[in-house]
Amino acid sequence: MRKTVLWIGSACLFLLVACNTTSAPADETVSSPLAKQTAVTHSDHQTTDMDASLPEIKMDSSIATTHLMGKFDPLKDNDFVEIEIQYADRPGQLLHQETYAAFIRMYEAAQKEDIKLIIKSATRNFSAQKAIWEGKWNGKRLLEGNINAAEKIKDPVQRALKILEYSSMPGTSRHHWGTDIDLNAFVNSYFEKGKGKKEYDWLVANAADFGFCQPYTPKGPNRPEGYNEEKWHWSYLPLATRLSDQYKIRLTDTDISGFDGAKTAPEIGIIKKYVFGINHHCL
Ligand SMILES: [Zn+2]
Repeated sequence: MRKTVLWIGSACLFLLVACNTTSAPADETVSSPLAKQTAVTHSDHQTTDMDASLPEIKMDSSIATTHLMGKFDPLKDNDFVEIEIQYADRPGQLLHQETYAAFIRMYEAAQKEDIKLIIKSATRNFSAQKAIWEGKWNGKRLLEGNINAAEKIKDPVQRALKILEYSSMPGTSRHHWGTDIDLNAFVNSYFEKGKGKKEYDWLVANAADFGFCQPYTPKGPNRPEGYNEEKWHWSYLPLATRLSDQYKIRLTDTDISGFDGAKTAPEIGIIKKYVFGINHHCL
């Protein structure tokens, strides 16, 4: 799977044509909102030590590092579209148009089997994630299932690790990419019985047919690091894999900055443990 994706990505670069699964051009000479951000703001880092055994990933400069870190306004990005209210729990949510098209196909297939999939969260950019993170860091927002505010934990790394059970540091969330969605409920227990279990079982059996994968499966020998299990979070791989490949070769922990507690990122090893601490089937 990975080799196939890489081969296709490489072929796109050499042929200077857009891959069939994305509207973002591989040719950096073609103007796009993402390419413009690349030219102005990013500095690239070549990090190959994270997984030297894998084939080399080609640089795709049509993808801005600012985009990878959510530092853009999806409302002003032509690749992003608003999710119609029939698919979501509130208006105003956005997704990359390719993710959205795939979701609608999955939604309709599920509906035929009396399964209703509702998007509860979609794209969150850096500033939206910063509001969530700093709310928890400074004790203005309660942690899930824990009435003790994180700000009472004095050690910064321990405080960050507590928040990281379920929330990403700004700049490291898959929700930045427009590829990831949270469906139906934010608690695992909802998906473990009755209607919720039926929905989850359907997703496990069918989501891959539409390109979706659950990145945050139970932690254990196969996934020792990263966020806790999230049965509600699904990622559209044809696009997310392309973005995560670029993330891996172009960003390091010291790029994760601009919010309270950011200095803990290198000590935690935020990119290796959290951005890539996912279900291997989603890589
Ligand atoms: Zn999520």
